[in-house]
Amino acid sequence: MKITELFQNSGKTVFSYEVFPPKRTSPIESVYDKLGEICALKPDFVSVTYGAGGTSKDSRTREIAAKIKYDFNIESVAHLTCVNSTKAEIDDTLDDLEAHGIENILALRGDRVENVEPKKDFVYASDLCAYIKTRGGFDIAGACYPEVHMEAESEIADILNLKKKVESGATHLISQLFFDNSAFYSFAEKAKIASINVPIEAGIMPVTNKAQIERMVSLCGASLPAKFSRTMQKYENRPEALRDAGIAYAVEQIVDLISNGVDGIHLYTMNNPYVARKITEAVSSLL
Ligand code: FAD
Repeated sequence: MKITELFQNSGKTVFSYEVFPPKRTSPIESVYDKLGEICALKPDFVSVTYGAGGTSKDSRTREIAAKIKYDFNIESVAHLTCVNSTKAEIDDTLDDLEAHGIENILALRGDRVENVEPKKDFVYASDLCAYIKTRGGFDIAGACYPEVHMEAESEIADILNLKKKVESGATHLISQLFFDNSAFYSFAEKAKIASINVPIEAGIMPVTNKAQIERMVSLCGASLPAKFSRTMQKYENRPEALRDAGIAYAVEQIVDLISNGVDGIHLYTMNNPYVARKITEAVSSLL
């Protein structure tokens, strides 16, 4: 099923998850039990990340996306980055995804990898969206940034670039994680003003340990509301309490977003079935 149809036909807030493949040093099967538990919670779809600097030779994203779709019976979305790929490599990956029945792609530029010269065929995610659209066969999603992409010239430039991504073929957007809902509401309003009219899913990351908070903030620059920081500081040396506080914070964000009519929630599960289950149980009657 194409994800666009889900937004058109489900008549409810779409609730999706993100998972990631295991490290290249671990067998792919090492994540199957956890993914099975996560899919048993019946999200509307599950998206599978693509390793930074990934190449067409690494088929783990496709393998997991196919496992989720055909063995766990949940629709899947394969992430795909383009900054380190030639057109020929992207062609190989698209052919491979199609041959294995994957219908949905989250088209990304990807981050530049240190000491790796980016390939020149695709500069921005919108180039990849346009390329996939012309080829046909896939529903295309794109990423968006409620607190502005770190490399963007300005907030306005980032919104106008996002509009270009939608005009190039993205029919649904998934947001970067954020902890302050007002940042998301302000972004969604600006997107509307710019006539970006595709569904936007809000990316929610339940923070369940201290190292995760520090890593996330340095990677994506999400601002931390005082309420969030206070809670995390209070429980930083009590892992179980910190996990429960992180889950409670994410649930509160989701309840507020749903009450405000968000198109969808995209839960960054970090491959953690316990956390995914607690949050899903807490919000499923609201969707
Ligand atoms: P783009 O949309 O190309 O934007 C990148 C920058 O270029 C922005 O600052 C934008 O304003 C600017 N820009 C865009 N178009 C133009 C233009 N025409 N002219 C001038 N400037 C322009 N990374 C991975 O490696 N693997 C993953 O699986 C992965 N999954 C992700 C999932 C989500 C939901 C999100 C939000 C991010 C994900 N990322 C992933 C991270 C992503 O690759 C990085 O954030 C990357 O830096 C930007 O990718 P993009 O697709 O948003 O790029």
